[in-house]
Amino acid sequence: MSRIVFVDGAFVPEEEAMVSVFDRGFLFADAVYEVTSVLEGRFLDFDGHMARLKRSLGELGMEEPMSRDALFEIHRELIDRNGIREGCVYLQVTRGVADRDFLFPEGVAQTVVMFTQAKNFMGEKKGIRVVSSPDIRWKRRDVKTVQLLAASMAKTAAKKLGKDDAWLVEDGFVTEGTSSNTYIVTRKGRIVTRNLTNAILPGITRASVLKLAAEHKLEIEERPFTIAEAQEAAEAFVTSATSFVCPVVEIDGTELSGGAPGPIAMRLNQIYIEEGKKAGI
Ligand code: PMP
Repeated sequence: MSRIVFVDGAFVPEEEAMVSVFDRGFLFADAVYEVTSVLEGRFLDFDGHMARLKRSLGELGMEEPMSRDALFEIHRELIDRNGIREGCVYLQVTRGVADRDFLFPEGVAQTVVMFTQAKNFMGEKKGIRVVSSPDIRWKRRDVKTVQLLAASMAKTAAKKLGKDDAWLVEDGFVTEGTSSNTYIVTRKGRIVTRNLTNAILPGITRASVLKLAAEHKLEIEERPFTIAEAQEAAEAFVTSATSFVCPVVEIDGTELSGGAPGPIAMRLNQIYIEEGKKAGI
């Protein structure tokens, strides 16, 4: 059975889903996106993702394509039609189709595309090995646009070195992973993660995990940190909608927490999953 995707108001088999070559998402990366995970058939942090979508659209002067409830109905129908109990829904909104011109077109209909991906979130977490890489992305990383080439290049270069991902570094400090927020746990047990500015994406998983960490009396410091400080840390981890809380066991060749997932990362992942099962919609 082929996957059913949503494009411009219709549910169609993926082979029949078409977007114009003049779509500004294709020509200018003039588009924003969200990825919402599904666990036991329920969406995690759905309203957080939709709130960030609204903000990204607003920052680019784009309208909301439809109401939160209409978006939710499509998300639900997509996972139902594709039999997804565990996975994610990708949503992209582009400025629409117009003859190629740098100037934003006016009065054109947006393109809205959504599709599912099946995933296994509950498998054993071995932890990832990362290498640092210069952050060459643009300066509005707080907006979730589809211009992901710099992140793709960094991840591919890390894979070529036999590692799992890159941690991006700007002015000596870690910004993010290629598609995740980054954290260290100091030897005193404090969780350190970069403060929110235009330099990083305000992760929806980040917001939930920090809230849950505070509720469990873990201490949190929001500030930038260096690769050297991370290599000295007791443990490290990343968060994202598609990896939840994922331990980092090596940074630029230095092993952390004895090369095994750290206890705080593993505990936070468990807490996030338990909360997701309760609060998912
Ligand atoms: N930073 C970047 C650059 C990302 O691409 C992502 C994932 N889209 C994240 C952080 C994590 O965000 P979220 O928890 O909302 O998935």
